[in-house]
Amino acid sequence: MDSPRGLGPPMAEPMTPLDVRVEANRCLNCYDAPCTVACPTSIDIPRFIRRIAAGDLAGSARTIMEANPMGASCARVCPTDELCEGACVYAPDNSPIRIGQLQQHATDWLIADGRMLFAPGPATGKRVAIVGGGPAGLSAARDLAVMGHAVTIFEREELAGGLNTYGIVPFRLPTDVAVWEAEQVRRLGVDIQTGVSVGTDVAPEKLLADYDAVVIACGMGQVPKLGIPGEDAEGVWDALDFIRVAKEDGIVPGLGDAVAVIGGGNTAIDAATCSKRLGARSVTMFYRRGPERMTAYGFEIEFAKSEGVEFRYDVLPHRIITTGGRVTGLELIRTDPKGTARPIAGTEYTIPIDNVIPAIGQSKFAALLDAFGVVHEHGVAIVDTGMHTNKAGVFAAGDCMFRAGASDAMVVEAAERGKTAAHSIDVFLRGGAH
Ligand SMILES: Cc1cc2nc3c(=O)[nH]c(=O)nc-3n(C[C@H](O)[C@H](O)[C@H](O)COP(=O)(O)OP(=O)(O)OC[C@H]3O[C@@H](n4cnc5c(N)ncnc54)[C@H](O)[C@@H]3O)c2cc1C
Ligand code: SF4
Repeated sequence: MDSPRGLGPPMAEPMTPLDVRVEANRCLNCYDAPCTVACPTSIDIPRFIRRIAAGDLAGSARTIMEANPMGASCARVCPTDELCEGACVYAPDNSPIRIGQLQQHATDWLIADGRMLFAPGPATGKRVAIVGGGPAGLSAARDLAVMGHAVTIFEREELAGGLNTYGIVPFRLPTDVAVWEAEQVRRLGVDIQTGVSVGTDVAPEKLLADYDAVVIACGMGQVPKLGIPGEDAEGVWDALDFIRVAKEDGIVPGLGDAVAVIGGGNTAIDAATCSKRLGARSVTMFYRRGPERMTAYGFEIEFAKSEGVEFRYDVLPHRIITTGGRVTGLELIRTDPKGTARPIAGTEYTIPIDNVIPAIGQSKFAALLDAFGVVHEHGVAIVDTGMHTNKAGVFAAGDCMFRAGASDAMVVEAAERGKTAAHSIDVFLRGGAH
């Protein structure tokens, strides 16, 4: 069966004009605003809300986008409960200001208006290459262009935007918002060369020789293999490929009635909710530990439950059962309920299933980092707080320097690291330290 076309309505509808006015006027304009402190890009939140209340949407959008070049996508994808809204002084009584939705209101206005907020700075004569046109690379490029440096982004995909364009489900982030953000950067004079893979189409040595500085912002790769029999069968999808096809085409060929998603993170949730919206009747997430260890955000889990996704804990996939090269079942094995994820021999059981979607993390681009001579730990670039790598003139930002446990891999974090890299590069190119 092919899935029906389309992925349904957005998770959050835009606010009505009346809601916007009421909400903006509720803001207390706090001194040392805790919402701003909680924002990784330090957007001056009371200021942008004040401007909305005053009817100055251009000024509001400028306040947002100045601090966060991904301000339009972050309005939709940031886990605001954990960040600004969670820190709002109204949060304890469960009525924080709806900061994300107000941010969306201001940035939607900007998208519709079409104006450019920023201009390239006076040319410095310095050239910077950026590997990857996702949130980290685009944010670095935006600030570097405003500082007057000539920037080239090398992006292997057809469109820039990274996971904003290809990975985040459309009912949370429509592709056109991601593409608009990339276009804002291009309109500053940044040369975005799409369909060019560094390491394949252009050698890292060439970038090191031809440019004054390089930013590695390549993100992470595909979902690693489960390492169990049957994984190459028809009906087994890498979660990222699955979401990408669903987002691009609004349909996934061969989607059956029963889908098993393996994993407990936000990508697993996205694959599960996508499957549900594409018409799968039964979608179950299988996680190797208990619910308290799942890395998906609480609001994501609640959303998945509201969409009809089921959850099974303390269980591992053991074998994918196939008939004629196609998935027909999944053998699972129970794990130690104390949370060690150790399988318990003799507890295997089998369920009928049409599709298996592993979503157990993302692989790393270790070979690319090696090719640039950048020191890394299992493919995670080692950087200091200024995003300097071990190699003078080479910087790394975004998911490729994301260390599990240090922070969450989020668009807003990637944007902030991109900005930091740009500022360090500016110091470097003007003859400062590093
Ligand atoms: C399914 C999914 C859902 C997510 N949902 C959310 C969410 O709701 N909210 C949130 O805040 N975060 C979310 N994230 C995380 C967020 O998308 C990432 O943290 C963010 O995109 C990282 O930005 P980045 O620029 O470092 O990497 P990416 O967005 O991965 O961009 C890297 C870019 O580099 C390019 N590239 C890679 N190698 C090369 C090469 N050799 N040559 C040229 N180009 C190359 C890639 O094609 C890509 O465009 C999600 C992630 C996933 C996987
Ligand atoms: S903490 Fe809440 S009330 Fe205070 S400035 Fe921020 S959004 Fe407004």
